[in-house]
Amino acid sequence: MVVVMSPKATDEDVARVVDMVEDAGGEAFVSRGKHRTIIGLVGDTERFVALPLPGLPGVDELIRVGKPFKLVATESRPEPSEIPVGGTLISRRAVCVIAGPCAIETEEQALAAARTAKAAGAHILRGDAYKHRTSPYAFQGLAKRGLEILAEMRAETGLPVVTEVLHTTDVELVASYADILRIGARNMQNFQLLREVGKLHKPVMLKRGLSATIEEWLMAAEYIAQQGNQEIVLCERGIRTYEPMTRNTLDLSAVPLVHRLSHLPVIVDPSHASGRRELVAPLARAAVAVGADGIMVDIHPHPETALCDGPQALRSEEVGPLIADIAAVAQALGKPLAGHSHGLSAVGG
Ligand code: PEP
Ligand code: MN
Repeated sequence: MVVVMSPKATDEDVARVVDMVEDAGGEAFVSRGKHRTIIGLVGDTERFVALPLPGLPGVDELIRVGKPFKLVATESRPEPSEIPVGGTLISRRAVCVIAGPCAIETEEQALAAARTAKAAGAHILRGDAYKHRTSPYAFQGLAKRGLEILAEMRAETGLPVVTEVLHTTDVELVASYADILRIGARNMQNFQLLREVGKLHKPVMLKRGLSATIEEWLMAAEYIAQQGNQEIVLCERGIRTYEPMTRNTLDLSAVPLVHRLSHLPVIVDPSHASGRRELVAPLARAAVAVGADGIMVDIHPHPETALCDGPQALRSEEVGPLIADIAAVAQALGKPLAGHSHGLSAVGG
């Protein structure tokens, strides 16, 4: 059950609902969105139904959500969520493109990739300072120095940036550099990390876990929303199957399914899904064809010398044609590419 408060509801109105629910033996999770507050009720639904909640001041609506995830469910917000990032909107109305190096390796490499992405028409840059690597001997990222280079990528191009946060202890630092914080596949069920980014007033990209079901993925998003942050972008990045020729198997059915189940936008990462450069463009086109709200791709000025994920990185000259292809597919669906930034606000807020 979800209580949707009116946009004019006061703190006292919210507290009154919480008290009533708790007195009835339930738990109430208050999620304050930009426009309205939503209260998720956990406990015996029949007892909640018997309460005089609909008549309370500030209460707009009571919605029964017959799913384990509540705040991110379509039922609690029939209008799809739109997430502003810089001057771009991640939404179902347009397709956005995120591009950049998998890892920030050097200033020169990262800035070259950023310039390529900008020139090709990307809306948001990616670049990681902290890497979650399968091998402890593999390049782990430049940490704070990587974030400083990320800030240069942002300043030089005027594009917003997304970067991964690995640990709860880094959330504040990463949030002071990033326009979107990314939770990687391996951390999808790091519930304490989800709670921490849920306390921010900043968009979060949540990648699907390597072996996560769609329900587990949405439950992970619920952890973020439950803390009050509803600015969540889901990212499908392939799941582990028995097929070894691709790094993962891209689950394109997740896109239209998530659109039915949730109001959140969902994008696709064909680079980590396939692990193979030559598959990135076809999968990106397919992702847009099934309705993805955006794509995120790895690019590198010299993929053969990349310290991380070189085989899947697009070469500089491949980025423009990829975006042109995506635009054509989007157009066939009656959707444009997303609009461009009208300037960045200061990060750190
Ligand atoms: C990434 O996007 O760089 C990444 C590590 O992807 P994933 O978490 O999906 O493996
Ligand atoms: Mn990678």
